Amino acid sequence: MKTRILISLIVSILTTIVCPAATMKALIIDGQNNHDWKATTPVLKKTLENSGLFTVDVATSPGKGQSMTAFKPNFATYTVVVSNYNGEPWSKETEDAFVQYVKSGGGFVSVHAANNSFPEWKEYNEIIGLGGWGDRTEKAGPYVRFVDGKIVRDSSPGRGGGHGSQHPFVVEVRDSHHPITAGLPEKWMHAKDELYDRLRGPAENLTLLATAFATKETNGSGHHEPMLMTISYGKGRVFHTTLGHSVEAMKCVGFITTLQRGAEWAATGKVTSKLPNDFPTTDKVSSRE
Ligand code: ZN
Repeated sequence: MKTRILISLIVSILTTIVCPAATMKALIIDGQNNHDWKATTPVLKKTLENSGLFTVDVATSPGKGQSMTAFKPNFATYTVVVSNYNGEPWSKETEDAFVQYVKSGGGFVSVHAANNSFPEWKEYNEIIGLGGWGDRTEKAGPYVRFVDGKIVRDSSPGRGGGHGSQHPFVVEVRDSHHPITAGLPEKWMHAKDELYDRLRGPAENLTLLATAFATKETNGSGHHEPMLMTISYGKGRVFHTTLGHSVEAMKCVGFITTLQRGAEWAATGKVTSKLPNDFPTTDKVSSRE
């Protein structure tokens, strides 16, 4: 009997060491999106849970045209908030609570079309750095591109937001010192996705981590466009990924790894995970079921 207790004690100690219990709380926001949020939120949830770092709740807003008054996620109780939301404005109270949450040190992750949301909300656009559509123009801020090894802010007039046809494309790491991108291959092939281009925004306190080239042949802008970014806002850390149009795009190991790393970094300022063995190479997509 004593031996059995001893063994179970050893097993529980080893389990704690090998698989530390998820200690941080993450919140995914959805409920409105021109993308299939009902299909993608479970994928995002599983990806965050599989990191072993987070327990994940989901806050689903009322549908289009319904009152937002009762939609009041308790942001302050989470370490990181992940947006899969592209829809109608929240109540002023919820907007204020969100800004206060990030400003006071909360982590935020913007996934794909979350950067289309809230074109009129000044603080939200400062938090995401860059956005698209929603009648965004040069008034929203510059385009941010990577030209001849440098980040260029281009204030020329024009629409904000675009993409060509979906295809697999190479993501190029532009900052290999940042914890999110440290150790990743310099170039990796992302699964079929929309390559967002022509995003515009305040782009203040923005660190560009990775870009992709939007070829004219796929109806892209012809520029190296931002794919992965971080933004600092007050004491808050923001990870912005433009990737993730669909479930297929989210199954890419490059998406999975950068989302997990980005969420951990937004939550803690550090990244503890190792590069997975199945990370895509320069010319080969790698996806998980
Ligand atoms: Zn999309």
